[in-house]
Amino acid sequence: MQNISEIDELIKLISKLPGLGPKSAKRIVLKLMNNREELIKPMTKALVEVYKNISRCKICGILKSTSIECNYDNCKIVEKKFNKICVVENISDQWSIESSNIYQGYFHILGGTLSSAGLRKEDLLVNSLVERVKMDKIEEVILATSATVEGQTTAYYIQDSLKNINVKITKLAQGLPVGGEIESLDDGTLFSAFKNRSKLISTSD
Ligand SMILES: [Zn+2]
Repeated sequence: MQNISEIDELIKLISKLPGLGPKSAKRIVLKLMNNREELIKPMTKALVEVYKNISRCKICGILKSTSIECNYDNCKIVEKKFNKICVVENISDQWSIESSNIYQGYFHILGGTLSSAGLRKEDLLVNSLVERVKMDKIEEVILATSATVEGQTTAYYIQDSLKNINVKITKLAQGLPVGGEIESLDDGTLFSAFKNRSKLISTSD
Protein backbone atom coordinates (compact mmCIF):
# COMPACT_ATOMS: atom_id res chain seq x y z
CA MET A 1 0.00 0.00 0.00
CA GLN A 2 1.21 3.52 -0.77
CA ASN A 3 2.03 5.69 2.18
CA ILE A 4 -0.12 8.77 2.01
CA SER A 5 0.04 10.55 5.33
CA GLU A 6 -3.51 11.96 5.18
CA ILE A 7 -4.96 8.53 4.48
CA ASP A 8 -2.81 6.88 7.14
CA GLU A 9 -3.97 9.42 9.69
CA LEU A 10 -7.63 8.82 8.81
CA ILE A 11 -7.21 5.05 9.04
CA LYS A 12 -5.55 5.46 12.41
CA LEU A 13 -8.44 7.58 13.69
CA ILE A 14 -11.20 5.38 12.34
CA SER A 15 -9.62 2.25 13.81
CA LYS A 16 -10.03 3.82 17.26
CA LEU A 17 -13.81 3.62 16.89
CA PRO A 18 -15.66 0.82 18.71
CA GLY A 19 -15.77 -2.44 16.86
CA LEU A 20 -13.34 -1.33 14.14
CA GLY A 21 -9.79 -2.45 13.56
CA PRO A 22 -7.24 -1.32 10.97
CA LYS A 23 -8.68 -3.66 8.34
CA SER A 24 -12.23 -2.32 8.49
CA ALA A 25 -10.85 1.20 8.86
CA LYS A 26 -9.07 0.77 5.53
CA ARG A 27 -12.30 -0.45 3.90
CA ILE A 28 -14.18 2.56 5.29
CA VAL A 29 -11.55 5.00 4.02
CA LEU A 30 -11.69 3.45 0.56
CA LYS A 31 -15.48 3.73 0.56
CA LEU A 32 -15.16 7.38 1.58
CA MET A 33 -12.60 8.11 -1.12
CA ASN A 34 -14.90 6.61 -3.72
CA ASN A 35 -17.81 8.73 -2.52
CA ARG A 36 -16.30 12.14 -1.92
CA GLU A 37 -19.41 14.18 -2.64
CA GLU A 38 -21.99 11.82 -1.17
CA LEU A 39 -20.09 10.88 1.97
CA ILE A 40 -16.97 12.90 2.74
CA LYS A 41 -18.57 16.30 2.19
CA PRO A 42 -21.75 15.84 4.31
CA MET A 43 -19.86 13.82 6.92
CA THR A 44 -17.26 16.55 7.37
CA LYS A 45 -20.07 19.06 7.82
CA ALA A 46 -21.93 16.83 10.30
CA LEU A 47 -18.79 16.23 12.36
CA VAL A 48 -18.02 19.94 12.57
CA GLU A 49 -21.62 20.65 13.61
CA VAL A 50 -21.55 18.00 16.33
CA TYR A 51 -18.16 19.19 17.55
CA LYS A 52 -19.32 22.81 17.71
CA ASN A 53 -22.89 22.42 18.90
CA ILE A 54 -23.30 19.29 20.99
CA SER A 55 -21.95 18.75 24.44
CA ARG A 56 -22.74 16.88 27.63
CA CYS A 57 -24.81 18.63 30.26
CA LYS A 58 -22.55 19.27 33.24
CA ILE A 59 -25.37 18.43 35.65
CA CYS A 60 -27.15 15.35 34.32
CA GLY A 61 -24.67 14.21 31.68
CA ILE A 62 -27.05 13.86 28.72
CA LEU A 63 -26.11 15.08 25.28
CA LYS A 64 -27.57 18.45 24.45
CA SER A 65 -27.22 21.30 22.05
CA THR A 66 -24.75 23.81 23.49
CA SER A 67 -27.05 26.65 22.54
CA ILE A 68 -29.96 25.55 24.72
CA GLU A 69 -30.32 24.89 28.39
CA CYS A 70 -30.71 21.28 29.33
CA ASN A 71 -34.32 20.35 29.81
CA TYR A 72 -35.38 17.21 27.96
CA ASP A 73 -37.62 16.54 30.94
CA ASN A 74 -34.41 15.84 32.67
CA CYS A 75 -32.18 18.01 34.80
CA LYS A 76 -33.93 21.36 34.43
CA ILE A 77 -37.28 20.26 35.65
CA VAL A 78 -39.95 22.73 34.70
CA GLU A 79 -42.81 20.55 35.70
CA LYS A 80 -42.06 17.49 37.79
CA LYS A 81 -43.16 14.36 35.99
CA PHE A 82 -41.35 11.52 37.69
CA ASN A 83 -40.13 10.58 41.13
CA LYS A 84 -37.43 8.17 39.98
CA ILE A 85 -33.97 8.70 38.63
CA CYS A 86 -31.98 6.02 36.85
CA VAL A 87 -28.20 6.27 37.14
CA VAL A 88 -26.20 4.85 34.24
CA GLU A 89 -22.57 4.90 33.22
CA ASN A 90 -22.82 6.12 29.65
CA ILE A 91 -25.17 7.67 27.16
CA SER A 92 -25.36 4.39 25.26
CA ASP A 93 -26.86 2.80 28.41
CA GLN A 94 -29.52 5.49 28.56
CA TRP A 95 -30.32 4.88 24.88
CA SER A 96 -30.69 1.12 25.44
CA ILE A 97 -33.00 1.59 28.41
CA GLU A 98 -35.05 4.23 26.60
CA SER A 99 -35.51 2.14 23.50
CA SER A 100 -36.66 -0.84 25.54
CA ASN A 101 -39.54 1.23 27.00
CA ILE A 102 -39.25 -0.38 30.40
CA TYR A 103 -38.51 2.70 32.42
CA GLN A 104 -40.29 6.00 32.85
CA GLY A 105 -38.29 8.55 34.78
CA TYR A 106 -35.29 10.82 34.79
CA PHE A 107 -31.79 9.78 33.80
CA HIS A 108 -28.42 10.63 35.22
CA ILE A 109 -25.33 9.77 33.21
CA LEU A 110 -22.17 9.47 35.28
CA GLY A 111 -19.76 9.56 32.37
CA GLY A 112 -17.99 6.30 33.15
CA THR A 113 -17.07 4.27 36.19
CA LEU A 114 -14.50 4.58 38.91
CA SER A 115 -11.16 3.17 37.80
CA SER A 116 -12.20 2.83 34.18
CA ALA A 117 -9.58 4.65 32.11
CA GLY A 118 -8.23 6.21 35.28
CA LEU A 119 -11.43 8.09 36.07
CA ARG A 120 -11.55 9.58 39.53
CA LYS A 121 -14.51 10.35 41.76
CA GLU A 122 -14.50 13.99 40.77
CA ASP A 123 -14.63 13.07 37.07
CA LEU A 124 -18.03 11.42 37.48
CA LEU A 125 -21.20 13.46 37.89
CA VAL A 126 -21.89 12.26 41.43
CA ASN A 127 -22.10 15.57 43.28
CA SER A 128 -24.68 16.84 40.83
CA LEU A 129 -26.63 13.59 41.27
CA VAL A 130 -26.79 14.18 45.03
CA GLU A 131 -27.97 17.75 44.37
CA ARG A 132 -30.65 16.60 41.94
CA VAL A 133 -31.97 13.98 44.33
CA LYS A 134 -32.27 16.60 47.06
CA MET A 135 -33.59 19.48 44.94
CA ASP A 136 -36.11 17.48 42.95
CA LYS A 137 -37.29 15.45 45.93
CA ILE A 138 -36.57 12.18 44.14
CA GLU A 139 -38.07 9.13 45.84
CA GLU A 140 -36.10 6.35 44.19
CA VAL A 141 -32.59 6.18 42.77
CA ILE A 142 -32.11 3.16 40.52
CA LEU A 143 -28.47 2.17 40.15
CA ALA A 144 -28.15 0.71 36.67
CA THR A 145 -24.39 0.34 36.48
CA SER A 146 -22.83 -2.69 34.81
CA ALA A 147 -22.29 -6.00 36.55
CA THR A 148 -18.53 -5.47 36.34
CA VAL A 149 -16.14 -4.81 39.21
CA GLU A 150 -15.91 -1.15 38.16
CA GLY A 151 -19.69 -0.85 37.80
CA GLN A 152 -20.32 -2.33 41.22
CA THR A 153 -17.60 -0.23 42.90
CA THR A 154 -19.20 2.84 41.37
CA ALA A 155 -22.66 1.79 42.57
CA TYR A 156 -21.32 1.37 46.08
CA TYR A 157 -19.70 4.80 45.95
CA ILE A 158 -22.98 6.40 44.86
CA GLN A 159 -24.90 4.59 47.56
CA ASP A 160 -22.42 5.97 50.09
CA SER A 161 -22.71 9.49 48.65
CA LEU A 162 -26.49 9.37 49.13
CA LYS A 163 -26.43 7.93 52.62
CA ASN A 164 -27.55 11.15 54.34
CA ILE A 165 -30.55 11.62 52.09
CA ASN A 166 -33.86 9.99 52.74
CA VAL A 167 -34.26 8.23 49.40
CA LYS A 168 -34.86 4.66 48.40
CA ILE A 169 -31.88 3.23 46.51
CA THR A 170 -32.40 0.19 44.34
CA LYS A 171 -30.09 -1.83 42.15
CA LEU A 172 -30.89 -3.78 39.02
CA ALA A 173 -31.61 -7.43 39.72
CA GLN A 174 -28.98 -10.12 39.83
CA GLY A 175 -30.31 -11.44 36.52
CA LEU A 176 -27.66 -9.32 34.92
CA PRO A 177 -24.92 -11.55 33.58
CA VAL A 178 -21.66 -11.03 35.44
CA GLY A 179 -19.54 -8.66 33.41
CA GLY A 180 -22.71 -7.58 31.61
CA GLU A 181 -22.73 -4.06 30.33
CA ILE A 182 -26.12 -2.39 30.23
CA GLU A 183 -25.88 -1.32 26.59
CA SER A 184 -25.27 -4.87 25.40
CA LEU A 185 -28.28 -6.42 27.13
CA ASP A 186 -31.36 -7.47 25.25
CA ASP A 187 -34.73 -5.96 26.15
CA GLY A 188 -35.93 -9.10 27.96
CA THR A 189 -32.93 -9.18 30.31
CA LEU A 190 -33.23 -5.45 30.92
CA PHE A 191 -36.94 -5.80 31.62
CA SER A 192 -36.47 -8.46 34.29
CA ALA A 193 -33.48 -6.62 35.78
CA PHE A 194 -35.68 -3.54 36.23
CA LYS A 195 -38.74 -5.41 37.37
CA ASN A 196 -36.86 -7.39 40.00
CA ARG A 197 -34.64 -4.58 41.19
CA SER A 198 -33.85 -4.79 44.88
CA LYS A 199 -33.67 -2.21 47.60
CA LEU A 200 -30.23 -1.61 49.03
CA ILE A 201 -29.82 -1.43 52.75
CA SER A 202 -28.87 2.10 53.67
CA THR A 203 -25.22 2.34 54.72
CA SER A 204 -26.20 4.67 57.56
CA ASP A 205 -28.39 2.02 59.19
ZN1 LIG B 1 -28.96 18.27 32.19
